[in-house]
Amino acid sequence: MSDAEKTDRTEKRVFVKTFGCQMNEYDSFRIIKMLESHGYTRAESYKDADCILLNTCTVRQKAEDKVYSELGRIKKIKRSKPDLIIGVGGCLGQQEGRNLIKKYPYIDLVFGTQSMSRLPDMLAEAAENSATDTRIDYNDSIYPHADYTVAPGQTGSFISIMQGCDNYCAYCIVPYVRGRERSRTPEDILTEIRSLVRSGVKEITLLGQNVNSYGKGLEPGVSFPDLLAAINAVRGLERVRFVTSHPKDLSDDLIACFGDLDKVCEHIHLPLQSGSNEILQKMNRKYSRRDYLKKIDSLRLVKPGISITSDIIVGFPGETEQDFQDTVDIINDIRFTDLFIFHYTDRKGTKAATHPEKIPYDVKIKRLKILNDIQRDISHDINKQHIGRIEHVLFDGVSKKASSLLAGRTRTNIVVNCKGGSADLLGQIHPVKITRANIHSLSGELVVD
Ligand code: SF4
Repeated sequence: MSDAEKTDRTEKRVFVKTFGCQMNEYDSFRIIKMLESHGYTRAESYKDADCILLNTCTVRQKAEDKVYSELGRIKKIKRSKPDLIIGVGGCLGQQEGRNLIKKYPYIDLVFGTQSMSRLPDMLAEAAENSATDTRIDYNDSIYPHADYTVAPGQTGSFISIMQGCDNYCAYCIVPYVRGRERSRTPEDILTEIRSLVRSGVKEITLLGQNVNSYGKGLEPGVSFPDLLAAINAVRGLERVRFVTSHPKDLSDDLIACFGDLDKVCEHIHLPLQSGSNEILQKMNRKYSRRDYLKKIDSLRLVKPGISITSDIIVGFPGETEQDFQDTVDIINDIRFTDLFIFHYTDRKGTKAATHPEKIPYDVKIKRLKILNDIQRDISHDINKQHIGRIEHVLFDGVSKKASSLLAGRTRTNIVVNCKGGSADLLGQIHPVKITRANIHSLSGELVVD
């Protein structure tokens, strides 16, 4: 690279907009850090940017639609600022490739989920040639290690430990856009965690489409419980969480980690998707209702009081009233702390999209509402049980409810808005007496020794 090029790059400001999941948030974080190391600075808005990157999601139709509507907004900005570079990456880039540039000719580059490390070169080429480019491949190395510093006061961080998925659930686009499962080495992950802890991080959340099958293909072999044990030993780290777990891969060894490893928080997100055996089979989930219930029993035996959250899809093709009732029953039986309930939408290229027995939209919305109402009551009931208890809260910011309150999370991942604290407690864990329960949060008062 010539000195002139280096100078040119130092003047570029980039704005990365993220759509969708935590995995994308993490990818955007990595993109920004990587581009900063190539001389880019972070723009605060579209208006200030020389380059706009959309890191997209296609898991649900809604997320995809948001990207298209954002592209409409950006088109207007590009009209008044022709040198603006527009890049679209992530799952939509992977899925649509060059079609995106055909449909939206003002896009300068498209990059896939495994092409992110090539972004500096792609951006430089786009700036010099005004040529459109696409890089869609599965061969890029999985997140190279980087030393990180985080913003002052940041207490938590995500870390991707694996990418891709081998499960091919019938409704899901992820294996097609994220590729086969690939795990980072434990050394690489631990180096990154230590770097984050040195810069003040107390809690990490390990990310992967299917974290429980972490380690596939690594030599020497290492399992997810092995990795958790190594992370648990990192000095200065206080809490470890992980998402997402597939029920079929939730081993006894992993369940035991909740009892054996003091930094592993008492919360698991374990997507159920349906309470009906027939629908689970059609979804290709590879577990039955009974298998799932047994895992819940084991988790609660090892860690009484563990918080269990889940995902449900209503209106999967062929879902009968009885199938739906089976889901209602299992939700009432398990009593999840919280649920993320979605209505089924076709994702192009998946097996379920070709299934002829589609459920009418109004039926799907009715079922969604029924489950939301049931879960709202259960969540509120569970939260009420915390009233009068002392919870250890890691303070991570000012409350959205009132600037006089601090906000943080319990080990079970419930937000607590707390009276009596001050900003110097941010980044620290303190006991809080819970005084009030809401549906999605708790309120409390700092316990002063
Ligand atoms: S486990 Fe199933 S739902 Fe989850 S990412 Fe893989 S294919 Fe998609």
